[in-house]
Amino acid sequence: MKKQNDKKILKRFISYYKPHKKLFALDMACAFMIAMIDLAFPMISRHLIEKLLPNQMYNTFFIFILALVVMYVIRGVFEFIVNYWGHILGVRIEYDMRSDLFLHLQKLPFKFYDKNRTGQIMSRVVNDLFEITELAHHGPEDIFLSTIMLVGSFLVLITIDWRLTLVLYVVVVVLVWFAITQRKKLSLGFKEVKKKTASINATLENSISGVRVAKAFANEAYEVEKFRAGNNAFRGSKKYAYKRMGIFMGGMHFMIYILNVIVIAVGGYFIMVDQMSYGDLLAFILYTNTFLQPIRRLTNFVQQFESGMTGFERFLEIMDIEPDIKDSDNAIEITNVTGNIEFKNVSFSYTDEEQVLTNLNVFIKEGETLALVGPSGGGKTTICQLIPRFYEIDEGDITIDNISIKDVTLSSLRRNIGVVQQDVFLFSGTIRDNILYGRINASEEEMIEAAKKAEIHDFIISLPKGYDTEVGDRGIRLSGGQKQRISIARVFLKNPPILILDEATSALDNETEIKIQKALEKLAKGRTTLVIAHRLSTIKNADKIVVMSDEGIKEEGSHEVLLEKGGIYSKLYKAQFKGYIPDEV
Ligand code: ADP
Ligand code: MG
Repeated sequence: MKKQNDKKILKRFISYYKPHKKLFALDMACAFMIAMIDLAFPMISRHLIEKLLPNQMYNTFFIFILALVVMYVIRGVFEFIVNYWGHILGVRIEYDMRSDLFLHLQKLPFKFYDKNRTGQIMSRVVNDLFEITELAHHGPEDIFLSTIMLVGSFLVLITIDWRLTLVLYVVVVVLVWFAITQRKKLSLGFKEVKKKTASINATLENSISGVRVAKAFANEAYEVEKFRAGNNAFRGSKKYAYKRMGIFMGGMHFMIYILNVIVIAVGGYFIMVDQMSYGDLLAFILYTNTFLQPIRRLTNFVQQFESGMTGFERFLEIMDIEPDIKDSDNAIEITNVTGNIEFKNVSFSYTDEEQVLTNLNVFIKEGETLALVGPSGGGKTTICQLIPRFYEIDEGDITIDNISIKDVTLSSLRRNIGVVQQDVFLFSGTIRDNILYGRINASEEEMIEAAKKAEIHDFIISLPKGYDTEVGDRGIRLSGGQKQRISIARVFLKNPPILILDEATSALDNETEIKIQKALEKLAKGRTTLVIAHRLSTIKNADKIVVMSDEGIKEEGSHEVLLEKGGIYSKLYKAQFKGYIPDEV
């Protein structure tokens, strides 16, 4: 079962070579020629020593020398091609795989990103692919060259002297075994170093980010101790790895030289008893010294094959996740949305353990604002995420203008919905890039118009670089309110008929909130809006307020009606305004 699986994986790996057949053939052909030249040299030398020199054929001798020079010029060219174009082959395969992976990642639903952390995914895209391309480029070349060299020289040598050949190859087999096992230990050692490096980096980052806390608690010594432990482990792992390296390199060279000694000893003995010529012995010695490279290549291959294939398997793990949220076969483009949204008996759960929504019925009338109120963890954000179909509902239906969201294309559905959340994500790039994200082909005037509506234009132009100011890690630091207004400008530009505001102002201080509230009210005008806010002052103008609890909807109606009713909402409202001066006072 496992074998068959391995075969399938290998097949899919090989399929990545298909678009680059020509380059692959060129690479292999040049590798083949290099192997042939390396195989030929000992034979030519033998011919020179054995036939030409003893018979004083000096002219032919010099012609041969000239031919050898030409041969090595050609070998140089082939080596250039193998190194350059061979790597380009690897780069192209890497490019294809990375594009495939990225395209696929873009298709994967929220569920995937809930389960996998950004760091892990990044490591797949970067590290695994690196291992894979190392294999993709060097793998075929290494296995091909080393096989030709080892088998080819065996075939040549056996015609010269089978006894010495057998002696030689018994040692070669031991050498290959030694190289493969030691190389494995060596690479395990370096893997450990990598792990320890990652861990020391994590400790470092954590300590530096928390340096203020460490100082405040006067815990610098504790932090130093924590770091020292990691640093020691790092040093230990390096010590081990370099010891392995010493054993590997020392052992390999030792064995090659011993191989030479054995060849000279046994060959010398054959010469003494008149069973071998000097030229033959020379050929043996020369071949012995060409073995080091193919043996290294072979061990390289074994090693690379292992890590490359593990990387490729992990790559396939992601590639094989079928995006479960995708356009149905006859999905339609939804246009001219008026914005009646209806939840019909909707049930939903993220996991098997907990049902988040059960038989939920909500209706949001076109152009109106519906506010959701309820305890944290009650499922408000979940409701927001179901409308753009970020998650698939388990039962019931959600409709927009009486069309099920499952029957429309994801892109047209999402084009019609604008979301403003508590956490604003700005891409690294300029403020302009970030606003234009709402509608990438919008004009400069439209963008500025959106920024004005979002009440952020004045701030932007007060910056030295205006709209070209960089934000994100390398750019300026924006306050929560500034970021939020940029995200609002984005949605103004997108201009969707449906708007979702999920705690858009919750992370802001009171004063900023009031300012942003103004922008949001403008934004909501004429759109079907779903708003969630834990400060009830911001939602009391909603056309309808729905009060949720863990069990579902408890009350619904307008602010006045709910206050009148004296239920949960009125209690919540009164509690919030106890000893608190409402904004309108
Ligand atoms: P609210 O916005 O009302 O605070 P949420 O909709 O965020 O509530 O969460 C409702 C429930 O669903 C909570 O119990 C929460 O733990 C769970 N939940 C929210 N998001 C996820 C998720 N991505 N994966 C699994 N469970 C989740
Ligand atoms: Mg929430």
